[in-house]
Amino acid sequence: MMDLHKPKGTEDLFGKSMRAWTNMQRIAAKIFGRYGFDLIETPTMEQVDVFTHGIGTSTDVVRKEMFRVFSGANLMRALEEGSDEGLKAAQRLALRPEGTAGFARAAIENTFVPQGGAPCKMYYAGPMFRGEDVQKGRLREFHQIGVEVLGAEEPALDAEVIIMLMQFFGELGLTKNDMVLKLNSMGDASCRPRYRDKVAAFIEAHESDMCPECKKRADTNPLRAFDCKNPHCREIMQDAPLISGMLCDECAAHYAAVKCYLDEANIAYVEDPTLVRGLDYYGRTVFEVEATSGVGAQSAIGGGGRYDGLMELVGGKPTPGIGFAVGFERIMLSLDAIGIDLAGPAPSCIYVAKTNESLRDEVFNLCLALRKEGFRTEADYQNRSLKSQFKQADKLNAIACLVLGEDEVASHTVTVRNMQTHEQTSVAVKDVADYLKSVQQGTH
Ligand code: AMP
Repeated sequence: MMDLHKPKGTEDLFGKSMRAWTNMQRIAAKIFGRYGFDLIETPTMEQVDVFTHGIGTSTDVVRKEMFRVFSGANLMRALEEGSDEGLKAAQRLALRPEGTAGFARAAIENTFVPQGGAPCKMYYAGPMFRGEDVQKGRLREFHQIGVEVLGAEEPALDAEVIIMLMQFFGELGLTKNDMVLKLNSMGDASCRPRYRDKVAAFIEAHESDMCPECKKRADTNPLRAFDCKNPHCREIMQDAPLISGMLCDECAAHYAAVKCYLDEANIAYVEDPTLVRGLDYYGRTVFEVEATSGVGAQSAIGGGGRYDGLMELVGGKPTPGIGFAVGFERIMLSLDAIGIDLAGPAPSCIYVAKTNESLRDEVFNLCLALRKEGFRTEADYQNRSLKSQFKQADKLNAIACLVLGEDEVASHTVTVRNMQTHEQTSVAVKDVADYLKSVQQGTH
């Protein structure tokens, strides 16, 4: 017998989890819409180069975690040649590990920000893929909702994006006590290199006690040592030099203004000068939201920051940008922990039952008519007894059951059974839609 399973670190979304995912997207559309964001959908696969340029070859996400995609013919060729280097750039594809690099590619290809144009604000929702070690809250296919703004660098925008993120979490049901907003400025091209050198020197001085990855990081991207998962490295990095105090005047002023706007909007945050975010393209404002319960070791439910250098990395003109992404599965863990049911109840329906199999055609036609009127309508397809039709109606969350029998058909009526009160009323077929609407509104 075939024994097929979903790939490790993936989930089937259906029923409750699908309703929760749909509701989260609905809330995102509502909140982000108020700030002028429109939905975008980019392909789930992109050229590998989009990620190597846009995220950076020194990141774990690109170096170790990217799922590669080949068409059958290209795979055979790569296998025969022992490498995919003979393939054209357009044939070397990967599943997206995050949304920003693909968005930047789309922004250039579709000129989202024409010279002198207004900033572009977009958001996306969809699956991301990373070949990570699977654990609670860390999947290989997970779902993110993210926003991106291109074309402006004012600190008011940074603050608005963060306020919008916190409003989104609030609308989902998370309170101030359920999460912590961490904030930092990573500096820019003029002040960060100096800071990087200092951190690199610090790592070199402690090299013998640090993991091989961190030793390499001293050369490639020393700031990432703050993110190292090795507890020993984490401890050492607690004494590493901090960016605060090393920001250039422009970055310090930008950071101060962002904080000022957040204070004005009453948004609580904790400054964390070790917050550097894992991806290469961040600069200046960076932030992360951690859940305080339910998510286990993977407590980051969302994060983002400014990426003023990204557009050039993927071949565009210099264009400032800022964005964030939140993780659906992790948010669900924290909502579950505090008893919030984002899925809500299963949808209710109208059930059409029959007393006799000979009435199948009448049931069929009544169902079609009710669906045209907008009712979610169900019926029996297995010739069940009336009793088990009622049972099924209960299971399907029916608010009313319409019973068709010989007498009803002869008199152009239906018997409507209110599934809550179990009261039965005879209603003319022509009035049944209006009657059901009143049942839905609870007035019958
Ligand atoms: P990142 O793109 O790494 O900044 O991730 C943004 C958000 O996506 C995180 O805050 C998490 O909520 C979520 N996330 C990232 N990686 C995973 C993963 N492997 N499994 C589940 N959620 C993830």
